[in-house]
Amino acid sequence: MIIALVEDEKDILNLVSYHLKKSNFNVKEFQKGEDFLNYLKNEKPDLILLDLMLPDIDGFEICKLLKRDDNFSNIPIIILTAKGDEVDKILGLEIGADDYITKPFSIKELIARVKTVLRRYENKTSYINIGGIVKVDLNKYEVYVKEEKINLTTTEFKILQILLSKKGWVFSREKILEELWHGEKAVIDRTIDVHIKSLRGKLKEGGKFIVNVRGVGYKIQE
Ligand code: CA
Repeated sequence: MIIALVEDEKDILNLVSYHLKKSNFNVKEFQKGEDFLNYLKNEKPDLILLDLMLPDIDGFEICKLLKRDDNFSNIPIIILTAKGDEVDKILGLEIGADDYITKPFSIKELIARVKTVLRRYENKTSYINIGGIVKVDLNKYEVYVKEEKINLTTTEFKILQILLSKKGWVFSREKILEELWHGEKAVIDRTIDVHIKSLRGKLKEGGKFIVNVRGVGYKIQE
C-alpha cells in the first residue's frame, strides 16, 4: 500500500514516515504541494496524508482539486494539520476529506486511522493497486497501466490474480500451476515462465513488480 505524505515540517514528515514504514506501508514523501501534484501525474497512492499549511499550495485547495477530479476522487485523504478549530474540521470534511487529525497527534492513533480509512475503501472498491502504476479490477477482470487499459489473456490475468492474493508472498511454479488448473492439466513448469514473461511485457513499467525469486518462484514486490 502506498501512502503519499505531504508535510512541509521535516520533523513530522520523518516521524510519520518512519512509523508508516514500520507498519509496512510504502511511503512517498513530499514537502511541497506542487511536487505532490507532479507525482500524481504518473502514480496513484492508496491514501494521502495531507498537511493544510504548505509553503506553496493550500492543502484545502489540493483536497478540493482531487475530490473534484474523477481520476483521484476515489483516493482517501486524511488531513493533518495544526489548525484545530471546529470550523476547519467541518470544512475539511465538506471538501471531501475522509478524516481529520490535529497536531500534536499520537502516532499510534494516526496509524490506526490510516488503517481504518483504508479498510473502509477496500470494501468499497475492487481495485488492487500495484506500486502506484498498475491497477487491477478483480470484478471486471480489467488491468490498467498508468490509466491505460491493457489486454491480458485469461491465463495471464489468473496468474496476476494468484500473485496478488498475497502481495509479497512467493508462489512456486507448482503452486501457480495448481491454482491455475486445479490438477486438470499436466503442464510443465516452464510454461509459467512463458506466461509471466508475456505478462511482464504487457504491464510495461509495472512489469518490474513481478519478481522472480531464483529457485523458488514468483512474487509481487512493490
Ligand atoms: Ca505545515
